[in-house]
Amino acid sequence: MNIAYYCPACHKSNRESLAAATTTLQCANCHQQIAIPEGAINGKCINRCLVCPSTDLYARKDFPQKLGVALVVLGFIGSSIAWAYYLVLWSFAILFGTALLDLVLYIVMGESLTCYRCGAQYRGCEDIEVHGGFDLETHEKHRQLAARLKPLAGQVENADIVK
Ligand SMILES: [Zn+2]
Ligand SMILES: [Zn+2]
Repeated sequence: MNIAYYCPACHKSNRESLAAATTTLQCANCHQQIAIPEGAINGKCINRCLVCPSTDLYARKDFPQKLGVALVVLGFIGSSIAWAYYLVLWSFAILFGTALLDLVLYIVMGESLTCYRCGAQYRGCEDIEVHGGFDLETHEKHRQLAARLKPLAGQVENADIVK
């Protein structure tokens, strides 16, 4: 398993590997340590966010959206060129080929867990379906909470950090 998160102290992005026995995260940039709450990691399952106090996580396909869009655009351009040269069969083959590649990529890509509150991402975890997919209502709840807590943000975040 691994986690990608923004350090609550220096806001730099970090990527660390995780195991059931991992007890702290350490920022590679400012060396700030974050204690992992007990029971947060259960074997290869993540029960709650390790970086912030949130327990709301959502599962989503780890699909590189830019690549997906690039494939569609490439397919369209390729097929238009073939069309212009009266290569009708090629035109359709390119269009369907790239669409199929898009679909295959989507299917084979793994899923990741993301924290609604701090955006930390967890990969290589098991049983992530229990967290459910993205829910707009939960997202909105956290967005409003974050807006309200902004003046207190420093205090709230620091409560979870080992000095
Ligand atoms: Zn840091
Ligand atoms: Zn979080």
